Amino acid sequence: MKARRFLWCVGTIRALVESWVLGTFLITGPLLVGEQIPANALGQSFLFLGLVCALWCALRLRVPAGRGRARLLREGAAALGLTLTLGGGLPALAFIVGWGDRFARSNLGVVGAVLVLGAGGMIFAALRIGVWLWHAWNRLRRRRMLWALTHAHLTVVVMLALLMATLGGFQIISTMEDLPGRFPSPDWASAFVDLLARTIFPLVGIVAILLIVLLAILLPPSAIFSYIVARRTTRRLESLAAAATALRWGDLSARVPVEGEDEVAQLQTDFNAMAAYLERATGEIQAERDKVVTLLQSRRDLIANVSHELRTPVATLRGYLESILKDKGVAPVGLRPDLEVMANEVERLQGLIDDLFTLARAEVDGLVLNVRPTDIGSLVRERVEAMAPLAWQSDRVELVAEVPPDLPPALADPERLEQVLINLLRNGVRHTPPGGIAAALVAAEAEHVRIEVRDTGAGIPPAELDHIWERFYRGAEARVKDHRGAGLGLALVKELVEAMGGAVAVESAPGEGSTFTVRFPAAAAG
Ligand code: ADP
Repeated sequence: MKARRFLWCVGTIRALVESWVLGTFLITGPLLVGEQIPANALGQSFLFLGLVCALWCALRLRVPAGRGRARLLREGAAALGLTLTLGGGLPALAFIVGWGDRFARSNLGVVGAVLVLGAGGMIFAALRIGVWLWHAWNRLRRRRMLWALTHAHLTVVVMLALLMATLGGFQIISTMEDLPGRFPSPDWASAFVDLLARTIFPLVGIVAILLIVLLAILLPPSAIFSYIVARRTTRRLESLAAAATALRWGDLSARVPVEGEDEVAQLQTDFNAMAAYLERATGEIQAERDKVVTLLQSRRDLIANVSHELRTPVATLRGYLESILKDKGVAPVGLRPDLEVMANEVERLQGLIDDLFTLARAEVDGLVLNVRPTDIGSLVRERVEAMAPLAWQSDRVELVAEVPPDLPPALADPERLEQVLINLLRNGVRHTPPGGIAAALVAAEAEHVRIEVRDTGAGIPPAELDHIWERFYRGAEARVKDHRGAGLGLALVKELVEAMGGAVAVESAPGEGSTFTVRFPAAAAG
C-alpha cells in the first residue's frame, strides 16, 4: 500500500519540481568538491545525477489516462520539461551561485555537461516506456491466472539474475587495477568522490551490463518454460470455468474431464457431481411439473365439458317449468308453490352453470370476445329493469339505475357485459337486507365509462376484501346465511372485465354497504 502511494501518483508539474529539487540537492556535492576531484569523476557524477532524477520522475509521475494520443503527448511534454529542468535549470542555478566554472572543469566541458544532464529527459522517456509495459503486463496478469503464474516464475528468474550480476560485479571490480587514479588531497570530499568514481559508478555499470546480458540469455527460455508449466494448471481451471458458465446458462449436461489427483481434480469431481445432481433434480421437477400441468388441463377440460353438458338439460327443465307456471290451468293449485321454488332453483343453477362454463372455457382456450363500441347506459337500464321486479319480490330490495344522457359509447362485449352486470346486481340484492337499495350508476370519465353498483347492505370486512375476487371464495357471512352462491360470481366479473380491457375495483366497510366499480375504455379513447 505504501509503495502504491509513492509510485505514479503525482501530476507533471509536481514531478518536475520534485526532480529539480532532487537534482539541486545532488549536484551540490560534486560542485562543492569540484575544485579537487578529477575531471572524469565530475563528468560521471553529472551522468549519474541525470539518471537518478529521470528515475525519480518516471516513478512519481502518474500514468496519464485518456486516449492513446493524448497520453503520448503528455508523456512527451513531461520528457521535454525534464530535459529543460535538468539541462537548463540546474546549470543556470550553478552559474547564478558562482559555480559555473566547475562545469568547465569536468571532462565533458560546459556544453557536454549540459547535454548529459539534459539527456535525463531521454532516459525518462525510455523508463516511461518500461513503466507502460509494466502496467500493461500487470493488467494482463490480473485478468488471467496463466500470466500471474508466469509472472511469479519470472520474478524468481529476475531476482536470481540480479544476484548473479551483483556477485559478478563485485568479483570483476575486485580484480580491476586500472581504475581512475587517486586524488591529490585526502580530505573527506575526495575520499567520497574517490569511492564513487572508483567503486560505486563502475560497480553499478558492470552490474547493469551483466544483468542485461543475463536476462537476455535467461528470460526467453524461462518465459517459455513458465508458460508451459502454468498452462497445464490454468487449462484445467479454464475448462472448469467454461463448464460453470454453461451450467449457469442452462446447459445441465456440462461436465469437465477429471485430470490428476490434486485440489483442482477434486474441484472437477465435485463440480461434475453437483452438475449431475442438478440435472437429475431438475429433470424430476420438470416431470412433476408436466404431470401437474396435464392434471390441471384435464381438470379444466372436465369442468368445461361437464358444465357444457349440463346447460342443455337445465335449460330444457327451466323451459318446461316456466311454461307450466305460465299456464294457470295446467299445474294443480297445491303444487304451484313447489313448482315456483323449483323454477327459482333451476334458474339459479343455470346461472351457476353459465358462470362455471365461461370460466372453464376461458382457461381451456381463452375467451372469445366481441369487443365493440357499446351503449353501456342502455344495457344497464335494461338489465336493472329486468331484474328489479324479482329483487323486490324475493328480497324486498329496491333496484334502481341512474344513467346520464349523452353517454359516450365504450368498448365492451355486450353479452359478456350483461353477465358482469347480472353478477354484480345479484350480489348487491343478495347482500342487502330487506328494505335496502341497490343502484347501478353510470358515468363518463375522461377516457373511460364507469359503472358503479352500490348497495346499502352489510358491507365487506377488510380481511375479506383481498379475497373476494378469488374463485370459490365466499365471505364468512355468506357461507352461514346465504346458500345461493358458489363463490364464482366476482371471479368471473374480474376475468371478463379485464379480458375486455377494463378494470375492477371495490370499496366497502362493514355496515356501510359496498361499491363495486368497473371501468371500460371509452370508444373514442380506445
Ligand atoms: P357468491 O356471491 O356466490 O358467494 P361472489 O364471487 O359473487 O360469490 O362473491 C364472493 C364474496 O364476496 C361473497 O361470498 C360475499 O362474501 C362477498 N360479496 C360480494 N358482493 C358483495 C356485496 N355486494 N356486499 C357484501 N359482500 C359481498
